[in-house]
Amino acid sequence: RYEQNAELLKRLTESAHFFQSQLTQSPSKKKATDYLATERGLSGQIAKVYGIGFAPPGWDNLLKAIGKRAEQQEQLLQGGMLIEKKDQQGHYYDRFRDRIMFPIRDSRGRVIAFGGRAFGDEKPKYLNSPETAVFNKSHELYGLFEAKQNTQNLDHIIVVEGYMDVIVLAQYGITNAVATLGTSVNSQHIRKLFKLVNKITLCFDGDKAGRAAAIRGLEASLPVMQDGKQARFLFLPDGEDPDSLVRQEGQEAFLARLEDANSLANVLFEHARNQVTLDHEEGDAEFARNAMTLIQQIPNDITYRSVLLKQLSNESGIEKEELN
Ligand code: ATP
Ligand code: MN
Ligand code: MN
Ligand code: MN
Repeated sequence: RYEQNAELLKRLTESAHFFQSQLTQSPSKKKATDYLATERGLSGQIAKVYGIGFAPPGWDNLLKAIGKRAEQQEQLLQGGMLIEKKDQQGHYYDRFRDRIMFPIRDSRGRVIAFGGRAFGDEKPKYLNSPETAVFNKSHELYGLFEAKQNTQNLDHIIVVEGYMDVIVLAQYGITNAVATLGTSVNSQHIRKLFKLVNKITLCFDGDKAGRAAAIRGLEASLPVMQDGKQARFLFLPDGEDPDSLVRQEGQEAFLARLEDANSLANVLFEHARNQVTLDHEEGDAEFARNAMTLIQQIPNDITYRSVLLKQLSNESGIEKEELN
């Protein structure tokens, strides 16, 4: 198994090199370099740091370049890079075609998967590798390896939604951002981050999806809270994501927003209040119940849980003992 994965990882590294080489060697390279430089405003330097590449149009560019032998094809298939033809067993075509390619590295820096962005409005906008023996979407965080490499005294990690958010923030000197991979942030992610740093900020796009993801982020944080750890929440203005905002406002303004991010307590109580359907005293009771349901998800022995209970007691006028 270990050796199988080692071979598979080699094919993925070769794939990353192939896609990168296509930015300078593909006959259609101009489309890719124009997109990166002009439409997305990326520097060549940052593209290199994140290993960005190009999967040219066509059904078998990768297959021909690094899948000449049957066993290599099998490994590329296992790695999610090829798809088997429906009507021809043992015949394959490239999964990623005509896309900008983002290699996804594990926290040790090995390429384990890819995200591919379409150039225009083609669907899906982002195509990710499927789950494989070396890629579990719900564990991995895009940009974590790069954040560790490029941030001095990494003590705070920002979790954003997209690849481009991570990369553009880094281009603006904010190198400590990571992104989930098309899933919302879960407890595994947060536990993993709390092993590395004491402070995380979950940052969400100013859109409906972003607001929904924030609630899931809150619920994911509660069971993995620990004493000495802090989770904060940053909501961006309507229509903005970290990429668009840092471009507009620059590094300092974005850092100021981070300084100003909401505490977990704030978000928890606000969510409990937003969920209230009744008015008068019944509404107050409903608020208290909603908040309790959330607070109870924090482990028993965490001091922060008592702090939130006390705060709820103050706000609702219900004794702590009664709340419990
Ligand atoms: P861009 O700036 O390139 O338009 P984005 O990162 O702002 O993209 P969002 O629509 O905000 O894109 O989505 C956030 C993240 O969710 C993406 O970076 C990607 O990881 C994931 N995602 C978006 N659309 C899809 C999709 N159709 N399939 C899988 N993952 C997706
Ligand atoms: Mn969005
Ligand atoms: Mn974006
Ligand atoms: Mn976005």
